[in-house]
Amino acid sequence: MLRSKTCGELRLSDANTTVTLAGWVQTIRDKGGVLWIDLRDRYGITQLLLEDGQTAPELFTTARSLGREFVVQATGTVIERKSKNPNIPTGDIELKVTELTVLNPAKLPPFLIDDDTDGGDDLRMKYRYLDLRRNPVRRNLELRHRMAQQTRVYMDGQGFIEVETPVLIKSTPEGARDFVVPSRMNPGEFYALPQSPQTFKQLLMVSGFDRYYQIVKCFRDEDLRADRQPEFTQIDCEMSFVEQEDVLNMFEGLVRHLFKSVKGIDLAEVPRMTYADAMKFYGSDKPDTRFEMKFVELKGTFDTVDLTSGKGFGVFDSAELVVGINVPGCAHYTRKQIDELTDWVKRPQIGAKGLIYVRYNEDRTLKSSVDKFYSEEDLQKWAVQFGAKPGDLMLIVSGDSAKARKQLNELRLEMGTRLGLRDPNVFSTLWVLDFPLLEYGEEEARWFAMHHPFTSPKPEDIALLDKEEMLGMVRANAYDLVINGTEVGGGSIRIFNRDLQARMFSLLGFSDEEAKAQFGFLMDAFEYGAPPHGGLAFGFDRLCSLFGGSDSIRDFIAFPKNNSGRDVMIDSPSAIANKQLDELKIATTVPTK
Ligand code: ASP
Repeated sequence: MLRSKTCGELRLSDANTTVTLAGWVQTIRDKGGVLWIDLRDRYGITQLLLEDGQTAPELFTTARSLGREFVVQATGTVIERKSKNPNIPTGDIELKVTELTVLNPAKLPPFLIDDDTDGGDDLRMKYRYLDLRRNPVRRNLELRHRMAQQTRVYMDGQGFIEVETPVLIKSTPEGARDFVVPSRMNPGEFYALPQSPQTFKQLLMVSGFDRYYQIVKCFRDEDLRADRQPEFTQIDCEMSFVEQEDVLNMFEGLVRHLFKSVKGIDLAEVPRMTYADAMKFYGSDKPDTRFEMKFVELKGTFDTVDLTSGKGFGVFDSAELVVGINVPGCAHYTRKQIDELTDWVKRPQIGAKGLIYVRYNEDRTLKSSVDKFYSEEDLQKWAVQFGAKPGDLMLIVSGDSAKARKQLNELRLEMGTRLGLRDPNVFSTLWVLDFPLLEYGEEEARWFAMHHPFTSPKPEDIALLDKEEMLGMVRANAYDLVINGTEVGGGSIRIFNRDLQARMFSLLGFSDEEAKAQFGFLMDAFEYGAPPHGGLAFGFDRLCSLFGGSDSIRDFIAFPKNNSGRDVMIDSPSAIANKQLDELKIATTVPTK
């Protein structure tokens, strides 16, 4: 080895030993008679010392030729430091250098390799290998590694077997857009990259594998919203002979194991909420339950309450839903602050027409922006409905039910942020259950599977599949795990009966021929003894970023793509040579570079 110790491990107890270190030059401080070099590797930083009269002059010459990020090897004696640095674990010692070798010089890096860097996003992505030298980025990947290791420990301990499924598969029309790969040997035909190993894991259940998992790359060619990656990693799981309850318990166990082993946190039991309640109380199927501020209806769609109609306020009279949140302790908000919030909800991204407020003053008087229409007595009734206390501020939106809920969800999250209630180091978990099986796509004028076409309806709701007008009411045995308002996992109990699966495809608008062509293999398999089965998948990148207390999954991926789906470091995607296109029998449409 070119080193005997790492730059992170020497302590006072190592004093007077001779060691060899190797690493990158972080900084050089040259005081003439004394010269210090901070040498860095993955494990830490160790200070090297060169001293006039003690160190050979040629070592000074070598040291003065060094620049930032040179790769060097240094041998010397560990000594106690005169002025110690309590901020780093090696701060009690330094290395009195007796040999210094440049292993490789380096060009000046385009940005500071430091915890706080001066490099912008684009530059750091172009030189990602340098960005990865920085502590915060390296720590993220170390966290990811531990998460993967501990996932394997738990899954293996529960008897799950890791099976690799193919990456070159078949394009299917459901779900997101596929990435496709042309087949040279089958001109004009294409593979697709898997959006998930869904059908393969189900086939493994038919094969009797019973408990499968895989930490697996998946690919979706979606328009990239902030913080989506075209390729991402899932912890993909499937089990046989289980009901929903078994799957929930098994994977609550995994999440609990990860919190304990990676973060030292004892997770409380994961609470459960139906999809219907999540929509009613939070206007979202992934509510952030780190804080309360549940929705309260004044003119309901879930409740039959109406505390607003008939007082001459046309906006509320014509609204399908009048709904609000009670913001504790914010009655002191000034007119200016409320105007600013109103502007915030009126931005096109949120799309509210306006915002009504009621201040519940400390002196128990009520002041609202609709005083013209509602008496103090009316407002008192609202306050009771809201469960408001003196000092609270009620914020109310109205309109079309689905839209108003969506807008209020955004406002609730914003108020949570403003009030400091969304601490990334506090974790609030939630199972959301009983998702609808189908959702209607107005544009396409057809039903879509809310989770995917293999999800089983609840047995008690199967009869509703016969009634077109009831389709939206059919509930599925489908579940999501939500942490801090982010969906980190989701799955379902599957259909394992050929007829029901065929029925599902036909509800989704497949003809029998199309269903057979796309998913015949699965339906055939169901005729050879398919066991009842179910499972789920966790978004691994997202889980890592949550554990790391960050909003950005990119920070937890070694070589991520940017918001346009590009890898700016290797410059991909890129054109390919005409010769390759010819081989693939693909017409040349793009000029090659
Ligand atoms: N394949 C599903 C997904 O990727 C997860 C599951 O149902 O197991 O969302």
